[in-house]
Amino acid sequence: MSQQVECIVDGCHGICEGDSEDEVMTEVEAHVEDAHPDLTLDTETVEAVKAEIETV
Ligand SMILES: [Zn+2]
Repeated sequence: MSQQVECIVDGCHGICEGDSEDEVMTEVEAHVEDAHPDLTLDTETVEAVKAEIETV
């Protein structure tokens, strides 16, 4: 069982996944740094991402 989340940026369908919420967030941070350097992962954004995480 793993966790995944689709990128919250409109028009981006990047999927970040991992074995735990922490791993997913590590992937999200790497993806955002790479694909959306202008997006700041502030507390609100992190919470919004976490709310979208699904168990698959
Ligand atoms: Zn993205």
